[in-house]
Amino acid sequence: MAEEPMKLVAFRKEVRAWLRANLPRGWGTPEFKIPESMTLERHQLGMWWVKKCYDAGYTGFGYPKEYGGVERPVEERAIIREEMARTGTPGGPYSLGLLLAAPTILRAGQEWQKKRFIPRILSGEESWCEGFSEPNAGSDLANVQTTAVKDGDEWVVNGQKVWSSNSRYADFGVLLVKTDLQAPRHRNLSYFLFDCKVKGFDRRPLRQMSGESEFGEMFFDNMRVPDKNMVGELNRGWYVAMTTLGAERGGGGAAAAAATEGGRRTVGAGTLDLVELAKNTKRYGKTAWEDSHFRQQIMQIAIESEAMRYSGVRNIARLRALRQPPGNEVSISKNFSAEMRQRRGELSMDIIGAYSQMMRGSPLAIDDGDWVYASLRAKGATIEMGTSEVNRNIIAERILGLPR
Ligand SMILES: Cc1cc2nc3c(=O)[nH]c(=O)nc-3n(C[C@H](O)[C@H](O)[C@H](O)COP(=O)(O)OP(=O)(O)OC[C@H]3O[C@@H](n4cnc5c(N)ncnc54)[C@H](O)[C@@H]3O)c2cc1C
Repeated sequence: MAEEPMKLVAFRKEVRAWLRANLPRGWGTPEFKIPESMTLERHQLGMWWVKKCYDAGYTGFGYPKEYGGVERPVEERAIIREEMARTGTPGGPYSLGLLLAAPTILRAGQEWQKKRFIPRILSGEESWCEGFSEPNAGSDLANVQTTAVKDGDEWVVNGQKVWSSNSRYADFGVLLVKTDLQAPRHRNLSYFLFDCKVKGFDRRPLRQMSGESEFGEMFFDNMRVPDKNMVGELNRGWYVAMTTLGAERGGGGAAAAAATEGGRRTVGAGTLDLVELAKNTKRYGKTAWEDSHFRQQIMQIAIESEAMRYSGVRNIARLRALRQPPGNEVSISKNFSAEMRQRRGELSMDIIGAYSQMMRGSPLAIDDGDWVYASLRAKGATIEMGTSEVNRNIIAERILGLPR
């Protein structure tokens, strides 16, 4: 392998020293317990950490400077990423800001929206949620029934959203609502940014099989949103929503979801963790790693991880070259990564055998229940951001050109 130039060696040392000095006290030792998933404490730890990284110039890449973007040569960015992955870091706050709000505002937002919102998303100061799905509008998103009626300089919103991830701690949300009751589907919706602190907004957590409440319901009872908070044109919100879904399903979405596993330790995110698990798990008098059946399956996951990583890099390179938002191809990476997460989860459950019944809190739980958590959380991966079936329809019709 080629040697790193002296300048980069020095930079790597600088990053390592910064991490040592700034990570929470006791980080990486058994004494340091990351707060339970989906708690306010964990959310605040993420906000604190992102702000620290941002102030140091270690995050906030890929956005223009005038919107708070941080400029840094790609080699240095790679070193920051590598060093953070090596140490393991607290992860971001529970927020969909980086994943979908910032990319949407950058592409479709007004100038004031870009200046007001993007910098505080990059620095982790404000968190976001997404109000798209409703009880009768999931896969059929165009069937949104929540309405907004114009009243002077404001819109009055009434209705309900469901499955809204991270809505519990969100400061702001993106919202898709019906603004024309007569117009045909797809041409009757508008897209708004709303403040979660205003009157008329309420939220309630929903409990998932993993035991946590990552998502929840949101209720709008005469909630007022300023007209200037509209993104894109009146009754053309569908197209803005497609920008959001593209950002979610694309490299960012799939990779971020796979890497953080809901904010717990990144256990299960890498093949090496699986190797370690197999080496430390005894089954019938020998370790799982000594069993060729498990070794082959771990290798299969390793191959798939690499394939996903390279196709992600190819997508990013293509997007940079074309300077265009992601297209329908993001459905391929979304499905592949979601289904791989489930295969990896099932394999880890096979390895730990009967201990897969032990969740966090049980003294018998392996790695404090993180494997079980990752496996249960992965079940939702083929539903969120569009189900696997819906993404297969997109691949079939819009990429392969098959008939409807
Ligand atoms: C973990 C998680 C997080 C989520 N976070 C958010 C969020 O932050 N914001 C938000 O707005 N939503 C969120 N969702 C909701 C998610 O987008 C919807 O659950 C999803 O779009 C499916 O909608 P549905 O649940 O109404 O199921 P339905 O649309 O009722 O689908 C039921 C079944 O029918 C199948 N189906 C439906 N239509 C077709 C079709 N045309 N062809 C073939 N099969 C079809 C589906 O694949 C599925 O298997 C989240 C969901 C999960 C699981």
